[in-house]
Amino acid sequence: SSITIAIDGYSSTGKSTLAKKLAKALNYVYVDTGAMYRSVTLAAMQAGAINNGKIDRTKLKSLLKSVEISFQLNEKTGNGDVILNGKNVEEEIRSLEVSKNVSNVAAISAVRKKLVEQQQQMGKGLGLVMDGRDIGTVVFPSAEVKFFLTASPEKRATRRYKELLDRGDNVKYADVLKNVQDRDYIDSHREDSPLKKANDAIEIDNSDMGLEEQLERMLSYTKD
Ligand code: C5P
Repeated sequence: SSITIAIDGYSSTGKSTLAKKLAKALNYVYVDTGAMYRSVTLAAMQAGAINNGKIDRTKLKSLLKSVEISFQLNEKTGNGDVILNGKNVEEEIRSLEVSKNVSNVAAISAVRKKLVEQQQQMGKGLGLVMDGRDIGTVVFPSAEVKFFLTASPEKRATRRYKELLDRGDNVKYADVLKNVQDRDYIDSHREDSPLKKANDAIEIDNSDMGLEEQLERMLSYTKD
């Protein structure tokens, strides 16, 4: 029997790392919805629809019609890389520049409508692990298992900062922390589908938990 597992929570709580591990352990498909919002943001930046953080909504909405997002298996990592209009943008979408704009793009209803519809199609008939901000509340409100991840902003910023340094990006810790806090605020205060814990979600604060411990805990909820 295949079920849908929704993983939501604040930025940089390790959602995607855990979702990937969980999907591998269960032999399920994993979908990173943040990568989809990041791809739309990158497309908008490249098309000049975002300048100094200011979004040209008219430009973005017309651009949206031609934006095509898909996932393709990366043989090296065993994970799905995000493909934007035929180009692999898996690396590019993780930059701090994209992170700075993505929450404002994700607050636009036309963007959410398009991506949520695609996400609901992607899950049809599959054993699925999907992570994001609104999976348990909006995309799959009837998901069999829902998790909501939290951790202190400092722990989250430290993890994200290390990731960005590891890939050679020249960033400051203070800027990464500010971005994590800004995204938390925008994501949980937007009008359309704000980030919140679904009533039936299992909350896990992983400030002081290792990956293996969390994975075990999550797996224990998926056994019937
Ligand atoms: O998960 P990740 O941090 O890559 O997501 C980037 C941003 O995309 C989030 O900060 C949020 O603004 C947006 N997002 C969203 N809904 C989702 C997934 C991501 O609004 N389901």
